[in-house]
Amino acid sequence: MAGLEEGFEQKGKRMRIGIFGGTFDPPHLGHLILAEEVREQLTLDQILWVLTPIPPHKPNRKITPLDIRLSMLKATIDNGPNFILSRVEIDRNPPYYAVDTVRILKEENQNDKMIYIMGEDSLRDLPTWHQPRIFVSLCSEIAVVKRPKVFVDFDVLERSIPGITKKVIFVETPLVEISSSSIRERVSKGRTYRYFLPNKVYELIKEHKLYRKGN
Ligand code: ATP
Repeated sequence: MAGLEEGFEQKGKRMRIGIFGGTFDPPHLGHLILAEEVREQLTLDQILWVLTPIPPHKPNRKITPLDIRLSMLKATIDNGPNFILSRVEIDRNPPYYAVDTVRILKEENQNDKMIYIMGEDSLRDLPTWHQPRIFVSLCSEIAVVKRPKVFVDFDVLERSIPGITKKVIFVETPLVEISSSSIRERVSKGRTYRYFLPNKVYELIKEHKLYRKGN
């Protein structure tokens, strides 16, 4: 099937498929904990990790080359229960809007439910995404995980995306104060980040000398 790298098979039953998109620069334990908690609590059959080549909402940030981020993401989801790397954005041309990603995945899995997974910061920023109303209408549910120091005003959200409140399911997880940006900052300052991400990702960051000052 197009768009998926490995291990994905259409089964007879109606599946609950999680879509977890990100820049993953780098992927970290916060991503893994979030995905695994959502998988268990929302009884998802699988989670498609969608690596975005160029994030539309972070246009000015310097990002790590796609091939290195791909290696880091493969190392992260390695052996994860029902975690699958999706090439749905890697294999198409920009812009990489989530609305198009969900539309393509829905067409490929017409009998299945699509549950989009995001942190609370992404939910807060959703009105700035491309065609947010259509995006929300395509998702069966939106699984949201709390992030530190983020507050979402549902009145504001509803005004710009009517009906969103009933699509959102907050998933209780331990609050993990790890972000890709905090890891990049730690590396550039020479601070430790050793246990913030899987060992193989740590090795890849060292091997490619990522995030160092002046890079
Ligand atoms: P950055 O710090 O560069 O913005 P990030 O750590 O938020 O990156 P992304 O690849 O942008 O990582 O994240 C993909 C999704 O994962 C986003 O919806 C984000 O909110 C969510 N996410 C990332 N880290 C966590 C975390 N520690 N807890 C909950 N959600 C998270």
